[in-house]
Amino acid sequence: MVNEMKNEVKNEMKSEITGESKIVTNTTEPEIEVKTATEETGDIIIEGTDIVRTFKMGEVQVRALRGVSVKIRRGEFVAIMGPSGSGKTTLLNQLGLLDTPNSGKVIIDEIDTSRMSDKEKGKFRLHNLGYVFQDYALLPELDASENVYISLMMQGKTKEEYEAAASEILKAVGLGDRLHQLPSKMSGGQQQRVSIARALAHNPRVLFADEPCANLDSQTSKEVLDLFKKFNKEKGQTIVMVTHEEWHAAYADRVIRLRDGVNIE
Ligand code: ADP
Ligand code: MG
Repeated sequence: MVNEMKNEVKNEMKSEITGESKIVTNTTEPEIEVKTATEETGDIIIEGTDIVRTFKMGEVQVRALRGVSVKIRRGEFVAIMGPSGSGKTTLLNQLGLLDTPNSGKVIIDEIDTSRMSDKEKGKFRLHNLGYVFQDYALLPELDASENVYISLMMQGKTKEEYEAAASEILKAVGLGDRLHQLPSKMSGGQQQRVSIARALAHNPRVLFADEPCANLDSQTSKEVLDLFKKFNKEKGQTIVMVTHEEWHAAYADRVIRLRDGVNIE
């Protein structure tokens, strides 16, 4: 019964994280080979070139991104800022392979992701990328540890491995004493820390965060941003974070500013 439930949420979780409806569990195929940086690449981890994304709303075309080019270096903490509707989430989704641009390219670690099939993209996300959302996106039936280790389970890790990894990362975000607590028994800040632990459990190449502090008070926001900074400084974690607060962006090394679907800085 419990296993059935876990399988079900595992599937839900995967579609939530990957945006897919088709489910593959315990992927055993080898990971896509990813080259490490060389001097030639200049240690650029993500390169987006001339990204265009339009949405059809009935008769109307919404031009969410009108040719955005960005380069993000390995180990950088970058903030994406801009007014509401300027294309921040759309840009994050293109760079994080959660959506596909109409034209333009996203290269991650020298891999041209436009050549990947949807299945390859899903696998690449599972193994290489991590996501934190404004609303935490935790599964309510699962405790902190289970929420964190689900993606490791899907990667085919053993029970011993994924339980140990979950408790280690939950300790690192200050929740070592809450491993078996349900999200409903936690504050917003604690839930967001669980979601950060989930995003980082598999040591992703890039952590993407879309307004991670939008539902948190200033003190709790500061704690979450301090955590991001800690992982960035101590582990060299590359972070791309959307925010609309200047003081949040001040935690980042650099700001990419959008207005009306183009980057102005
Ligand atoms: P931001 O995150 O900066 O507030 P978004 O990237 O969410 O902005 O949206 C940019 C523009 O694209 C907005 O005009 C928004 O309404 C539109 N948009 C975003 N996603 C969709 C969608 N799935 N369908 C239609 N329009 C969309
Ligand atoms: Mg947004």
